[in-house]
Amino acid sequence: MNKDKSEIYCNGIKGEELQVIVQMSGFRVGNFPFRYLGIPISYKRISIGDCSKLVEKMVDRIRGWGARKLSYAGRLVLVQSVLSQLHSYWARIFVIPKGIIRRIESICRNYLWEGVDQYHKAPAVAWDKVCQDQKQGGLGVINCMAWNTALIGKYTWWLACKEDHLWIRWVHHVYMKQQDWFEYIPNMNTSWTWRQICKVKEKLKPGYEAGIWAPDGNAYRPDAGYRWLVGEHAKVEWYPVIWNRMNWPKHSFIAWLLVLGRLLTKDRLVRFGVINDGGCELCGEEVETVEHLFFECRYSQMCLTLINDWLESDIPVRDCIKWCCRLKHRSLMKTKLIQMVVVALVYQIWNMRNKCRVEQLVWHPRMLFRMVQQQVKARANLKICTVPHRLDNEWCIRFK
Ligand SMILES: [Zn+2]
Repeated sequence: MNKDKSEIYCNGIKGEELQVIVQMSGFRVGNFPFRYLGIPISYKRISIGDCSKLVEKMVDRIRGWGARKLSYAGRLVLVQSVLSQLHSYWARIFVIPKGIIRRIESICRNYLWEGVDQYHKAPAVAWDKVCQDQKQGGLGVINCMAWNTALIGKYTWWLACKEDHLWIRWVHHVYMKQQDWFEYIPNMNTSWTWRQICKVKEKLKPGYEAGIWAPDGNAYRPDAGYRWLVGEHAKVEWYPVIWNRMNWPKHSFIAWLLVLGRLLTKDRLVRFGVINDGGCELCGEEVETVEHLFFECRYSQMCLTLINDWLESDIPVRDCIKWCCRLKHRSLMKTKLIQMVVVALVYQIWNMRNKCRVEQLVWHPRMLFRMVQQQVKARANLKICTVPHRLDNEWCIRFK
């Protein structure tokens, strides 16, 4: 038994008194650091080495997913669910060192953009943007640092409310000694974990002072704390079009890159010095820019004409996403269906352009149109669970 560590672990109880307690309780005297449910517990600063298990688990899962075969949308779902859950499990227990948070974010980022844990090229979209809410233009991936702070915030709330926990009573008795929690400053000789909780309190203090959470008002909740920490950003106009629930997720992802101007069209590749020839793959007549590809290009226009004939609509060649944002039919279903078709067409044009770069093969526009039709019909039949407006009944039959 390590004398120093057991004294701390047992809060100052030592010698014969300790032996008596051990015999009476049947507990074993343990030493710091130890692991509880796989998580390192220590009174000292948690090192990057202590958290290496978390990083190893993430990397193991990534390698086991056959990640490269999945679309961006598939990888996004896995990043959001598995990686965030793994991180959240640790984040609700202690403040994770910044170095580990950066490593977790880099694993998530590399996996999302390339399907591997190690990747050194610049990502298509900055991680801060990816972590914004979908309504604010991001992908809604959790900001690990803010989520960790928000979860640890529950301890600061318990302390503010003087909740009846053994730990709270102990902290008040040993550290705070009748001091006001919000004015309390920890000594440097207190434990690292305690000082980290006090730092979280300082971050959340303006929220408490503004009355967002108060013992006699709204109780603190980690999700509310998280939203307050990341702040509110303006909503983007295109959110209902790009993240329309009718869309195939992989279509939404490509359309999201399009509206952010992050698709690597050939004009950008020429600018970056990656290629010399910026000619459009589909028509070979103009420079391939986003504006040209969607849908000024002769090939894309032919596809759009077939879509307009099928839907009896007038989707314009320019700014079709903006046009979709303003679209308002008397039936919401008709609006959503047209928006879904436009997003599916964007995806298929981009897919065709990539196919053409690799295989030097272009489908006839009618074949591409049929592919769009097939995909949107399958999705519509899966998603439609309400009866359309009676005036649109006839129009909606084309999706059967
Ligand atoms: Zn073209």
